Amino acid sequence: MIKTPLVFVATSDFAGKIRGKSFPLADLEKRSAKGVGWTPTNVQITCFDKIAETPFGSLGDLLLVPDAETLVDIDYGDGSPADRFVLGDIRELDGAPWSCCTRSILKQALKRLEDLGGVRLVAAFEHEFQLDAGSPAFGEAYTHSGFQQKRELAESLMAALGQAGMETDTFMNEYGPDQYEVTIDPTDGLRAADHAAVLREVTRSVARRCGERATFTPIRDPENVGNGVHIHMSFVDAQGIPATYDPAGPAGMSSVTGAFLAGVLKYLDSIVAFTAPSDVSYLRLTPHRWSAAYNNLGLRDREASLRICPTSAQDEAGIARQYNFEFRAGDAAASPYLALAAIVHAGAQGLQENLAAPPVTQEDLSLLSAEALKARGYTRLPEALPEALARFEHNDIARAWFPEGFAEVYLAHKRGELAYLDAMPPEERCAVYARVY
Ligand code: GLU
Ligand code: MG
Repeated sequence: MIKTPLVFVATSDFAGKIRGKSFPLADLEKRSAKGVGWTPTNVQITCFDKIAETPFGSLGDLLLVPDAETLVDIDYGDGSPADRFVLGDIRELDGAPWSCCTRSILKQALKRLEDLGGVRLVAAFEHEFQLDAGSPAFGEAYTHSGFQQKRELAESLMAALGQAGMETDTFMNEYGPDQYEVTIDPTDGLRAADHAAVLREVTRSVARRCGERATFTPIRDPENVGNGVHIHMSFVDAQGIPATYDPAGPAGMSSVTGAFLAGVLKYLDSIVAFTAPSDVSYLRLTPHRWSAAYNNLGLRDREASLRICPTSAQDEAGIARQYNFEFRAGDAAASPYLALAAIVHAGAQGLQENLAAPPVTQEDLSLLSAEALKARGYTRLPEALPEALARFEHNDIARAWFPEGFAEVYLAHKRGELAYLDAMPPEERCAVYARVY
């Protein structure tokens, strides 16, 4: 058959979906200058293919402009169609970033961090997902035989991620049924979010090629563990020198790290609407699922929202290079750009407010009474999406981090998503989210 190679230009939108349009690959240079036409109301397409209330109606025109540096072109070497797409920014016709472009919002957040803290963010997204080939794995958590059953998929995935420009790290079968995890190396903040967006698409694609279906849904079974997206972060200064660690700081935190983490914890209840933005995200954010339920910083504790990760180096310079912290209250219903932008803004706010480094916990906070939690400055994270949305809506400081008009559109989108679920019981909600993510 005759073919014109096409490239798909994509935006990661409020639903955390990768949406866009395709054009001939030969036009990439031309399109990188002029973009393709895009419609404002597209941002209100929820993950359930319904259009939420939109302030734009049928009006307006935007441009989705490819960033050619993000081009993914994976040849699977078996004659099957390539995975070929490029990420883009949504701009007004005059070239200004659009107020609801998630990638532009992240760029603005990273710039704010640089201006306030003199540091650049380095990040890596760690993803859990589940496979469904119709015969659930049983008794295979972390086993070699469980891994061996998926070796072909794992090896193709690692090769595909490599072709997409990522430095691959590990692949493992996790402890939930049919649950897997893939990790990649850290890179600068914007590229890390690009990589997260690409990794999800490529994982789904590789799974399909292996006759499986991958879902990144936050939780597939209300009675079991969820699929987290853990975001590892560290800082480098303007010269590229690690700036996260200070042996004299509390738990090794540099002053920038301490203030940043204090900001994230202070504003966490107002930003989970971006990091854990689905209805079922809140089934996952409950104690004893190794996710996150309180606004605490844990030292090597997998139930803390923020965790200082272990280092293995024996010398100070090596520790400084390895030292990083992890945000655990996130999932893949979120656009990686919006999730990271919200975290970075909250951290930058901590720098702006000159907050002191938070104390480090190594205990089960769910055992504390409400009074004891309050006395120590901890809060239970919102227990449902409507509450998370309301926390953002009523936090004027957090709203002001985003472009004018953004908050209203985002809130209407998410409320439209919730309206679709109406009176569905939790199992059914999990089932519909497992289909769309
Ligand atoms: N599955 C857990 C989550 O939902 C994380 C388990 C782990 O620490 O790897 O975040
Ligand atoms: Mg894991």
